Amino acid sequence: MSLSQLARSISESPTLKLNETAALLREKGEPVIHLGGGEPRSKAPVDAIVSCAALLATGEVRYTPADGIPALKKAIIRYTEEHYGRLAAAGNVIASSGAKQAIMVLLHAILDPKQEVVFPVPYWVSYPEMVKLAGGVPVPVAASGGGFEPTVEEIAEAVGPYTKAIILNSPNNPSGVVYSDEFVAGVVELCEKRNLYLIMDDTYNRLVFDGRAAANCYHFSKVHNLDSSKLVVVNCVSKMYAMTGFRIGWAIGNREVIRAMANIQSQETSGPAAPSQWAAVGALNGVQSSIESLRLTLENNRNVMVNRLSAIDGVKVTKPAGTFYCFPDFSAYEKDSQKLSRLLLDKVRVVTVPGREFGMEGHLRLSFCGGTREVTEGIERIRWAIDPTAPNEMFLGDRKLVRDWR
Ligand code: PMP
Repeated sequence: MSLSQLARSISESPTLKLNETAALLREKGEPVIHLGGGEPRSKAPVDAIVSCAALLATGEVRYTPADGIPALKKAIIRYTEEHYGRLAAAGNVIASSGAKQAIMVLLHAILDPKQEVVFPVPYWVSYPEMVKLAGGVPVPVAASGGGFEPTVEEIAEAVGPYTKAIILNSPNNPSGVVYSDEFVAGVVELCEKRNLYLIMDDTYNRLVFDGRAAANCYHFSKVHNLDSSKLVVVNCVSKMYAMTGFRIGWAIGNREVIRAMANIQSQETSGPAAPSQWAAVGALNGVQSSIESLRLTLENNRNVMVNRLSAIDGVKVTKPAGTFYCFPDFSAYEKDSQKLSRLLLDKVRVVTVPGREFGMEGHLRLSFCGGTREVTEGIERIRWAIDPTAPNEMFLGDRKLVRDWR
């Protein structure tokens, strides 16, 4: 069989693969704890369901404009004004099938072959592959001190003649870090000085803890007219409304880039699914209390996870300030994150994502978007598996495990 060079250069999404593995093991009756997931367990808001069902009830489910139905664009414009203080026009908005597609068509719209896209380490697993799919070259930038936020100078050093864009994702998947205002301000200034696109992936923007808020990039921009700006802000209903399966995301940017994105999207997929767009309209225009209740649940889960992890000698934890991920450093026990992740799945049936997928060895990404019981039991199993001083036996339900490693 002959596949393209591109197809051969792209790897499978490791997080989606882990979901499959966990589902298969569960089907076989294995007591799996899934700390690898990337979606809240709560239900979609009632307003989303009612709005979606109203369209379905008509039986007329048709193509929509490639960049989204007017009602959704209107709701996104209102959201942008409320949360970003920017007044967008319809031409500054595109709705896509998830934030993923918004980022993908954006990269297709701005990248020429071999142009570079810079982003901090650790990064969302899909950025390198998406940049490659669009013909570009990913340039990850690690903080020299090993932390989760490089300096503006380190980002600037990675910018060269081929750089076209920088991507920032704050709060960050996988670290849970909310980038400091100084860092975001510095990167906005750098992009405006060097005429680069700045893609702000604000997927987790509303899921921030401890009374903090993620920086609003527009606050630091000297360009007040959206149509002259190379800042593109990406959002979605996936995480904040627990609507991952609806696949609705959007981007706000200058008219020219949005038009190019819409053209690409019109040829690739057409507009997003109409029922999903109406569901997003319902969510955005409806009662907003589900976001706060999700945020509070996640903050509580975060506290439980951080407390339990901190009690394990040698595990270094940075308290996540947002998202539903924690990215502890297990290198005192095992430097190879894939090996450790496999051991945890094979021996104690805990699903984790190896740090290597996010550009940082020695770490594991642990999700706290499930129930508190899953968090406590998951960490307890991890602790038993890695701690050589733990008792030699443990029960998983009625199954006795005996440590036969180390
Ligand atoms: N950006 C980040 C940082 C994400 O974590 C995700 C989802 N895991 C996405 C974008 C994609 O979101 P969506 O499901 O809306 O495509």
